[in-house]
Amino acid sequence: MIEKFVPDVFSQSIYRLDYKALKTRGIELLIFDLDNTIAPISETQPSKEAINLINDLKDMGFTCILMTNAGRKRTEVFRNKLEIDTCAKARKPFKKNYKKILKLYNKEPEHVAAIGDQLITDILGANLRGIVSILVNPICKKDYPLTKINRQLEKILFARMQKKGVFKKDKYYG
Ligand SMILES: [Mg+2]
Repeated sequence: MIEKFVPDVFSQSIYRLDYKALKTRGIELLIFDLDNTIAPISETQPSKEAINLINDLKDMGFTCILMTNAGRKRTEVFRNKLEIDTCAKARKPFKKNYKKILKLYNKEPEHVAAIGDQLITDILGANLRGIVSILVNPICKKDYPLTKINRQLEKILFARMQKKGVFKKDKYYG
């Protein structure tokens, strides 16, 4: 079971990811998490840097979407400013909305990558669907109350993965 929490790729941030390598790997659709992946939870809109990145990725030929467990209201400004489709209240890691997205964009899971900052939602959800899972460090330490609980569980998971030799928190790869 612990294997389901191991990300395929681990990067410092969305800005450090090797998107060319993802392209070579056959990835066509990028599913971005919102909170603490694209923006800190205290920010109500995307930074110029985030807007530029999404534009660059579109120019590279990627389809980019936002998939977040946050509500529609929080997501709206990001959807408009980044000009991307959004799946709010996604209930990650549950498979329903991943399935919907794959169907809607007509993609096989191996052509899709999901990028996020949480093992229990973003990474587990992607791994359960056979989607390429990419972990990034959270932008800041501030989390929603529910996420704080997840972070406690995450600590246990990270420790187990480290013990098993399948993941190292200070070693980026992929
Ligand atoms: Mg997040």
